[in-house]
Amino acid sequence: MMTEWRAPLRLQCNSAALVANWRWLAARSGTAACGAAIKANAYGLGAQDVMARLSRAGCRDFYVATWGEARALGPLPSGARVSVLHGVREEDMALALALDARPVLNTLAQVARWRPTGRVCDVMVDTGINRLGLSARDVEAGALAGLKIDTMMSHLACADDAAQDDAMSARQRQDFAALHTKDVAERFSLANSAGICLNDAANNAYAFDLTRPGLALYGGIPRAEARGFIQQVATPQAQILQRRRVIAGDTVGYNATFMARDDTEVAIINLGYADGYLRSFSGPDGHVGGSAQVSCGEPVRLPVLGRVSMDLVALDVTSHQILAEGDWVDIDYNLLRAANIAGLSQYELLTGLGARFERVWS
Ligand SMILES: *Cc1c(COP(=O)(O)O)cnc(C)c1O
Repeated sequence: MMTEWRAPLRLQCNSAALVANWRWLAARSGTAACGAAIKANAYGLGAQDVMARLSRAGCRDFYVATWGEARALGPLPSGARVSVLHGVREEDMALALALDARPVLNTLAQVARWRPTGRVCDVMVDTGINRLGLSARDVEAGALAGLKIDTMMSHLACADDAAQDDAMSARQRQDFAALHTKDVAERFSLANSAGICLNDAANNAYAFDLTRPGLALYGGIPRAEARGFIQQVATPQAQILQRRRVIAGDTVGYNATFMARDDTEVAIINLGYADGYLRSFSGPDGHVGGSAQVSCGEPVRLPVLGRVSMDLVALDVTSHQILAEGDWVDIDYNLLRAANIAGLSQYELLTGLGARFERVWS
């Protein structure tokens, strides 16, 4: 009998951390409801798994980008609602009418397309990011007449730490609040993860009726306010395929960018840039590269040596005599630290994790 095949690469996902992060974001949203952005397969973690866990915790509003993502969710948990952020194209209509999900209308053409269905929708209004959304002028001119709107939303451009421009967020908030008085929708929603951090529970300025976190659910730290509260959810784990001794003077990997100064013990692990572990984690040649730790072992840093390959990475395991072929290591993937090391955004670090990971939930 064949036993079940298990991949040599796992994304270990922590249910308790995911739910704790959602609860923190929900508390910080004050009286507003707290939804969840689960687009891009829940930022790489698995949209169905995330929706099931957050729905059990009390989350009701879920956001995907496309109708294909909505379809991939399958039957929804009871009470769950799904909104499709990219609106509805003509070629989406058949699927849209067949699914239990609603579009977020972004353009006048989408409004004209959806109005005759008589079904509920959400609407995006642009307040300055200039991506998707109707203009406030369109709304004020009555473009939404005849629609059944659950949520009117807008999206912040500069709410995260890196932007260092809370003035723009304040301006967007003010323009959005001006529409709030117009009574065009059941609910209003502005804040993503960073916007929730900006929200002050005392006056609830950014939360309105509903918030839409993504990144922070999955362990990302959008702003300093989240530090110490948001927990890591996803940890890549890779198996050692081979252990070898590299003699002083020999090199490791493509382009021989690492040369051993002393005899060095090296573990080759099943992970590479095709899995989203990009070449920016390549080992020390003047900068700090990526690293790993022994799974369930003492926390000793195992640095990446040389170039990250498509499917393989070399680690320095000189400090670990007992680490052998078949053992597992945890890749250091604290998102804030890894983003600094790799020069990538925390979003890219999550959404880039590929299809060869077996996603395992604890
Ligand atoms: C992706 C997205 C979110 C979630 O943003 P995070 O920064 O990941 O919290 C919220 N709203 C909209 C419209 C989005 O596209």
